[in-house]
Amino acid sequence: MSGHKLLFSGLKLWTSGTSRWISGLHDGVNKSGKACFSSCSPKVCIVGSGPAGFYTAQHLIKARQDVEVDIYERLPVPFGLVRFGVAPDHPEVKNVINTFTQTAKHSRCSFYGNVNVGKDVSIEELRQAYHAVVLSYGAEGNRSMGVPGEDLAGVYSAKDFVGWYNGLPSCGELSPDLSCETAVILGQGNVALDVARILLCPIDILEKTDITQPALDALAESQVRRVLIVGRRGPIQVACTIKELREMVNLPDTRPEMAAADFEGVTEALKDLPRPRKRLTELMVKTALEIPGEKEQERRNKASRTWGLKFFRSPVEILSDPDRKRTAGIRLAVNRLEGSGDSSRAVLTGEVEDVTCGLVISSIGYKSLPIDPSVPFDSHKAIVPNNMGRVQQAAGLYCSGWLKTGPTGVIATTMNNSFDTARSLLEDMDSGTLDVSPAKPGSQSISALLDKRGVKPVVFSDWEKIDSVEMSRGKAIGKPREKLLTVEGMLQEAQK
Ligand code: FAD
Ligand code: NAP
Repeated sequence: MSGHKLLFSGLKLWTSGTSRWISGLHDGVNKSGKACFSSCSPKVCIVGSGPAGFYTAQHLIKARQDVEVDIYERLPVPFGLVRFGVAPDHPEVKNVINTFTQTAKHSRCSFYGNVNVGKDVSIEELRQAYHAVVLSYGAEGNRSMGVPGEDLAGVYSAKDFVGWYNGLPSCGELSPDLSCETAVILGQGNVALDVARILLCPIDILEKTDITQPALDALAESQVRRVLIVGRRGPIQVACTIKELREMVNLPDTRPEMAAADFEGVTEALKDLPRPRKRLTELMVKTALEIPGEKEQERRNKASRTWGLKFFRSPVEILSDPDRKRTAGIRLAVNRLEGSGDSSRAVLTGEVEDVTCGLVISSIGYKSLPIDPSVPFDSHKAIVPNNMGRVQQAAGLYCSGWLKTGPTGVIATTMNNSFDTARSLLEDMDSGTLDVSPAKPGSQSISALLDKRGVKPVVFSDWEKIDSVEMSRGKAIGKPREKLLTVEGMLQEAQK
């Protein structure tokens, strides 16, 4: 739609080119303290305030001068995995929060935290109140290994372990037992490497990050000295990226532990690999096979901890101690590869190998979950079935982020797929496929519903109070932030 258009709706007059009310005609203020715009503005609501939610909102607001966007978030705090996933020792990644904050503070965007969509308000109610609803609620479940013993004490999903060290309220009680010497991580993606690095990272590095204090205390007492990162396929198929592998290679006080036999034929295959994969594999080969220089050898000799990538192994069973109470090891099937490159498959050889360990962390991927029975959900792929972000057979319903694509991709990938969804939505508005002519109440009616149900949304300025408390708590102990760990604690600060 072109800018500088005058929109009339009853007594209200809004000029979309200048993004402001013509003075005297409007004095409405919504629950987030923002000026209310025309009741005939297209109203879009977004479910989830992670990168997908914020990037979708950003694109919509920028592309059309009349769209109003409300973001509903289950937790009282925004930013999804940027807050609760990204490793505490990667603060630079969290700079995207500055862009998200600009979007949240835009006059046509409002944030409503502490609203659990699917429970506090249904998707159908949102669809009644808005012209379009974008589902961007991420992937909050995890793939399970499906092997016996998975429920033993000492076995955790990476999702919970990451949530624990990053202060996700639902993981506050995890208290992982770190009294063993060896930890096994299943999966060789970047999450697995994040977890391995946090388990082995010297405390004097971690204590300068925003890792939670209970996690820092537990890691300071940790007896874990050896971390094996186990993949079902070979070195050429690892899912991690070079930056994260290099961080492992250079992690102070650690040395690598790899089996030369796992690298058979890999050096020969290097020349045919695409460049990023080639550089990643070269680093692995160098780390595993080359005799290090004197200085590096000395560093390795002095190291008190080891880490290793272990290949061609799939979990078969988590072994328990004699009391059948906690994990004492893991049985791994030995695989061989069928095919080559990315598409090769792990095939069982029939051989098994037992590894003694007291901690098993399964890092084989996250998984989206359905939140409302009225929304189509492909339980096989664990995504909302969609065509370029348009939810199939549900006009006015869209999806973006990990819920749309499945749980892979860095923030930049999520940004692109969210912009694509916003483009689909805008196209539908422009073409008339999405009818934005009937006036919709937007947050007004949803706020009334939430009020009736006793739900108190946390608006962005409330989050800023939480933010400021967390930063002062951090400052007092030399950390960038000390997160509040419970929803109650967050709400208390928000409501002050
Ligand atoms: P999310 O970030 O998960 O956001 C979903 C949001 O929806 C959450 O805020 C959630 O609370 C909310 N929500 C869920 N259910 C509801 C509901 N019922 N009602 C309302 N709201 C709801 N990428 C990088 O580029 N660099 C990194 O260093 C990096 N580290 C990562 C570390 C980990 C452990 C993980 C798992 C991923 C990491 N990524 C990283 C990838 C990046 O986090 C994702 O690409 C991105 O967060 C996906 O965005 P999303 O918005 O789809 O999901
Ligand atoms: P991922 O990259 O998809 O890796 C999953 C790993 O689990 C792969 O090694 C996979 O092996 C393995 N796996 C899957 N199913 C398995 C099974 N049934 N049995 C054994 N192994 C299995 O997922 P992720 O590590 O959760 O990361 C998710 C996304 O977030 C990725 O895109 C990642 O790059 C991103 N991320 C980025 C950063 C960063 O930039 N620093 C940090 C964390 C996460 P196969 O290849 O054989 O399937």
